[in-house]
Amino acid sequence: MTTLLKRGSRGAAVRDLQAMLNAQTIIGMADLAVDGDFGAKTDAAVRAFQDAAGLVVDGVAGRQTLTALKQATTPAKPGRPEPDKSAMQDDVPAADRRIAVGKRPSNADSLRLEHTARPIDEIIIHCAATPEGKDFTVADIRAWHKQRGWSDIGYHYVVYRDGRVMEGRPIGQVGAHVSGHNTGTIGICYVGGVSADGKTAKDTRTPDQRSSLLWLVMQLVALHRGVKKVSGHNEYAAKACPSFDVRKDPLGTLA
Ligand SMILES: [Zn+2]
Repeated sequence: MTTLLKRGSRGAAVRDLQAMLNAQTIIGMADLAVDGDFGAKTDAAVRAFQDAAGLVVDGVAGRQTLTALKQATTPAKPGRPEPDKSAMQDDVPAADRRIAVGKRPSNADSLRLEHTARPIDEIIIHCAATPEGKDFTVADIRAWHKQRGWSDIGYHYVVYRDGRVMEGRPIGQVGAHVSGHNTGTIGICYVGGVSADGKTAKDTRTPDQRSSLLWLVMQLVALHRGVKKVSGHNEYAAKACPSFDVRKDPLGTLA
């Protein structure tokens, strides 16, 4: 459990928090003294960040706020060798990543995010392998999967191009999304994943999809404390899916 930092907290963790808040470019955020003393200005800065990030605005820096802050503060991981980028797109400017700090999707209120007794230790990201710019629904994907003889859609959640998060297979049921890794995992799919030609792997996530994926994974990690890893299908199979490297994406830092 992360310590909750709030008004009156003191120490090194507060200094780290203040330094991270100072690194944000949110309008109205004051330049804080990095003094390790959580006072009114730090409280206001935490609230401003929470508001911008679509989190609960309570001025308390707990696990979700600290995770979002960390992820917004370190958009890229320097010092690692650059892998081949031909199939993977990882060219999102740092500024864009900072904006997409897991904003609540427009349909968040109608979504049932439930805990399940099924032990979950990993979240695996997929794409629908559908062409850029085209919308598809849970019903479409369910129909494709049923044609393969499956009982239901293989994924637990689908993220639409407009950022809406839709429920697929009930969370309490084992999914059908990664051969050999369905037990203990949650499968999330975003609509898209290939370019308009319908065959070239491409990270087609819209800003709304990036934001909603972050939001959804953050909610699921908070609900399922056993989650140790967020990964991509391509880490387990010779496939491009989800057409980006989750390990190099902010998503990969959330567990
Ligand atoms: Zn996949």
